[in-house]
Amino acid sequence: MTQILDGKATSLAIEAELTQAVDARMASGLKRPHLAAILVGDNPASRAYVGHKVKACARVGFESTLVEHPADITQEALLDAVRALNDDASVDGFIVQLPLPDHIDDQAVLEAVHPEKDVDGFHPVNAGKMALDLPCFLPATPKGIVSLLDRAGIDTQGKHAVILGRSSIVGTPMALLLRRNGAPGNCTVTVCHSRTQDLAEHTRRADILVAAIGRAHFVTADMVKEGAVVIDVGINRIADATKKSGSRLTGDVDFDHVAPKCSWITPVPGGVGPMTIASLMENTLQACAQKDA
Ligand code: NDP
Repeated sequence: MTQILDGKATSLAIEAELTQAVDARMASGLKRPHLAAILVGDNPASRAYVGHKVKACARVGFESTLVEHPADITQEALLDAVRALNDDASVDGFIVQLPLPDHIDDQAVLEAVHPEKDVDGFHPVNAGKMALDLPCFLPATPKGIVSLLDRAGIDTQGKHAVILGRSSIVGTPMALLLRRNGAPGNCTVTVCHSRTQDLAEHTRRADILVAAIGRAHFVTADMVKEGAVVIDVGINRIADATKKSGSRLTGDVDFDHVAPKCSWITPVPGGVGPMTIASLMENTLQACAQKDA
């Protein structure tokens, strides 16, 4: 029977733990965790994502600061804004919401974030530490997926995981985390991308299939093995005349047809999205706690 991997419920459980941890910190006279976010321009999706993060901070008792800049900000001014947050002792961690406008060099901005405040885990120092299995900030989306598998009690040992997508924020770190010698982990991992030949041959062999490519309903029932665990990372907006807005969000997986074949599957929305935010909150607490000593 198919079971739903409920990211919403799991994220609420994590938030309850974080709230308790904040209360305990305050009772001990320790600092309240503080997350800042830089938002450049007025991309509605970016604004919505940042808004979700700010609201999550309020729910768990963190302080939050939203730093907004216009879309025509210069690269140097944006780097100055990053350096200001690096230097602000009240801020434990911060993120720069992606995507940035075309004239900005994303990588230069991400590399300007101090690794100890890089709660998105995008700085090469954290990415390198993750690859070496050293303590670091893990990128929020793959970290959230690993938590979801763990808390659902899904055994990953020796399983064949197939990852669709090799981006530096989802596909590549996902592959690293599932391949780790640990629990969850110890998967044999295949990473597929736009140049992969006979993609369905790979996906059909997956015990755990993670779809992170950004194409609505790309994964169809014939691509999935009976009993597979399917994690749908995709967030795609598609037309839907039944909605007031005329559109709705959907994942990379054709949920209605794929779900009956799965042992577990994440819904969109309510799967990976809330877990990503919960993991960012966990990273912020980690950043704050690292400074206690
Ligand atoms: P990117 O666009 O950075 O990467 C997409 C990856 O998919 C690339 O590696 C690309 O291959 C691969 N790809 C694209 N088309 C195909 C295809 N036809 N066949 C096989 N591989 C393909 O996206 P992200 O990793 O940033 O995000 C992926 C999706 O996840 C998006 O929908 C995004 O909105 C969503 N997302 C959701 C989050 C959440 O919290 N739920 C968080 C982050 C992202 P190549 O490298 O060859 O170009």
